[in-house]
Amino acid sequence: MNQRSCKALVIGAGPGGYVAAIRAGQLGLDTIVVEAERPGGTCLNIGCIPSKALIHAAEEFEAAKHRAQTNALGISASAPTIDLARTIAWKDGIVQRLTGGVSGLLRKAKVTTIHGTAKFRDGRTVEVTTAAGVEIIKPEHTIIATGSAAVELPFLPFGGKVMSSTEALALTEVPRSLVVVGGGYIGIELGTAFAKFGAQVTIVEAAGKILPQYDSELTRPVAARLAHLGVEVMTGTKAKGLSPDGAGLVVTQADGTELTLPADKILVTVGRRPRADGLGLEAMGVTMERGAIRIDERCRTSMRGLYAIGDVTGEPMLAHRAMAQGEMVADIIAGENRVWDKIAIPAVCFTDPEIVSVGLSPDEAKAAGHDVVFGHFPFQANGRAMSVEREDGFVRIVARKSDHLVLGVQAVGAGVSELSSGFALALEMGARLEDIAGTIHTHPTRGEVVQEAALKALGRALHI
Ligand code: FAD
Ligand code: NAD
Repeated sequence: MNQRSCKALVIGAGPGGYVAAIRAGQLGLDTIVVEAERPGGTCLNIGCIPSKALIHAAEEFEAAKHRAQTNALGISASAPTIDLARTIAWKDGIVQRLTGGVSGLLRKAKVTTIHGTAKFRDGRTVEVTTAAGVEIIKPEHTIIATGSAAVELPFLPFGGKVMSSTEALALTEVPRSLVVVGGGYIGIELGTAFAKFGAQVTIVEAAGKILPQYDSELTRPVAARLAHLGVEVMTGTKAKGLSPDGAGLVVTQADGTELTLPADKILVTVGRRPRADGLGLEAMGVTMERGAIRIDERCRTSMRGLYAIGDVTGEPMLAHRAMAQGEMVADIIAGENRVWDKIAIPAVCFTDPEIVSVGLSPDEAKAAGHDVVFGHFPFQANGRAMSVEREDGFVRIVARKSDHLVLGVQAVGAGVSELSSGFALALEMGARLEDIAGTIHTHPTRGEVVQEAALKALGRALHI
């Protein structure tokens, strides 16, 4: 049995784990990363990147269909078709390039990568099962970055026509009818994409509205676009199981009515659970919280020398949070005095239109005891939005009334994901409304709406 020791062992090479390993390697730490599947984790292989590639293809197809009809731009085109197998092959090519890139970056940082499954023997010993046998690693510090897995409904297990997002991202034919269970991030992002590809999509959401984590003002334009695309949204409705003949999904509505929805495919997207089982943590007495590993503001677990980052530590399950934690923990292991002091973790929903939320919404700010002012500015009054035919949505800035410190920025609109880093920068820099209002915003861009929202909060918007 092969045995080795190292300064830092990282379990899982998703965005959290690979960033932690690269940073640790850059800092000169003797680092090993163990990955059971492929580098890049959920995000690069079956999550963020493949879903955004598919969403892009669907948008292009939808735009081509629109151009094939009479349109104001005077463009004429013949009826487009989609070969989903080719789309998926293109998406797989992007995934391969990126995962290959991650392997290269790990090598460049002098990190040793082991392909295998890690499990703790005890707090100081990790056993890795590889194709060639078992390896024993004795690390000084261990970072658990094992991510998350799709939640499976016991009465609707994955298999056959019932899919998780992983299978949905590998479909080579557009299903005629698709029922999506769960109108959260994945359900709405992928449901919209398949509707654009031409599937008849029904979304079944247990809560009273889609994307319940965002306020109604932000989700309204998304609901309107879904209706325009012919997607049926059934809120207050719960999935019960496959119909006896297996042809459809039985659902129960809020008033108790039971319905069977015909479905060629059923996509279940009711959340993700931290992947902490099977690591041997129970035997070590590591403190857990609702299935996730509990961490402090330095990503330390309840056991000395053991850190956890990313989805395995619970919500928000976002790749950029995992990466930021990974970078911080590597610095801490190298002896730097770092602490999680981020003011905000931006959240983007890649729906149509996109939704961004950074920091506090007006209601959250009020609930936190702040006396607030806010400015709300619509894309309808923005020249760039008009000239690219997408005037739906707005930017909303929330600030403390006393000193105009920006507490939150939200937006809904086409392409607003690209504004999100600017919103996060404003919050991290402690910007005040006057800072945003006084910054020259390039014309003509959608970003001008951010400046106008700040001016509006100050009571002096110019273009409305
Ligand atoms: P993961 O990426 O899950 O990586 C964990 C890795 O650990 C995996 O590679 C796994 O094989 C490995 N592993 C697990 N157990 C072991 C073990 N015992 N031994 C060795 N290796 C092990 N987030 C965003 O921020 N933006 C998005 O647009 C976005 N879109 C998404 C779309 C979809 C369809 C899905 C499913 C998720 C999406 N996410 C998105 C969430 C994002 O993918 C996760 O937040 C992110 O991947 C978490 O990173 P991580 O490093 O914690 O874990
Ligand atoms: P989610 O938590 O976003 O949404 C799950 C939805 O399912 C909720 O609205 C919930 O009310 C509903 N639901 C639960 N049980 C149900 C039932 N029995 N019947 C009908 N509806 C039910 O979860 P998700 O969409 O699976 O995504 C998982 C996580 O992945 C997200 O929380 C997010 O952290 C991450 N993600 C992020 C992005 C992004 O950043 N753009 C994209 C995709 C995924």
